[in-house]
Amino acid sequence: MKKILTAILAAAVVCTSLFALAGCGNSSKNSDSKSSGSSSSEKGELHMATNASFEPYEYQEGGKVVGIDAEIAQAICDKLGYKLVIDDMEFDAIITAVTSGKADFGMAGMTVTDERKKSVDFTDPYTNAIQAIIVNESDSKVSSKKDLEGATVGVQLGTTGDVYVTDVKDAKVERFSKGADAVLALTQNKVDAVVIDNEPAKKFVEQNKGTKILDESFKNENYAICLKKGSDLTEQFNKALKELKDDGTVKKIIDKYIKA
Ligand code: GLN
Repeated sequence: MKKILTAILAAAVVCTSLFALAGCGNSSKNSDSKSSGSSSSEKGELHMATNASFEPYEYQEGGKVVGIDAEIAQAICDKLGYKLVIDDMEFDAIITAVTSGKADFGMAGMTVTDERKKSVDFTDPYTNAIQAIIVNESDSKVSSKKDLEGATVGVQLGTTGDVYVTDVKDAKVERFSKGADAVLALTQNKVDAVVIDNEPAKKFVEQNKGTKILDESFKNENYAICLKKGSDLTEQFNKALKELKDDGTVKKIIDKYIKA
């Protein structure tokens, strides 16, 4: 009997100390005790909020989110020792996900704007873009930027394209949750033009016969990663991003998806 009691006691002591170890050894807020122990996840997970309908930056392929942003984010997380988890949501929900802490960062071909800087911090830019104008090849009433005045224009809700077109005199703005739906409306003549980032615009035009991109566009924009205001991660991300730019990784990833 005494032997059994001693054994139980000993087991209890071992268990308690294991719990204590598990509890104290992991200070990162994202760590959990299910950690696989692999070096790439030793600091836990980082959740990236994105909208995976924005090829070539992020899109679904074979049940996975792939694209320029997904690969750059993976490279940053590998460098910093985090496991990357990608959460797909509406573009419009990304900043709230970041400010509320539901996601650790947002990366979605997101343009740095002063308005957004009021609610989130941005890393240094990793690439740039312009808002392009897509129209139907035949019988389009829009053949220049000026023609957007008084036209019905499709945009993706909450994007810089939305902001610019909202400022165009007498333009009627139709807001869609996906760029693809705006382009579909264009092919059905429900809108006269679509304003969206140039690289996704090229993909949409490839996929929709009878549409084209106008030579004229809106002003140059920078894409960067957004994080919660004051987050310690921003500096770490900037450091990793700089190394990935300097060693050519960022360029290699972009070139893989955007052929010159
Ligand atoms: N670059 C645009 C913006 O930041 C669009 C981004 C997107 O639709 N994913 O508003």
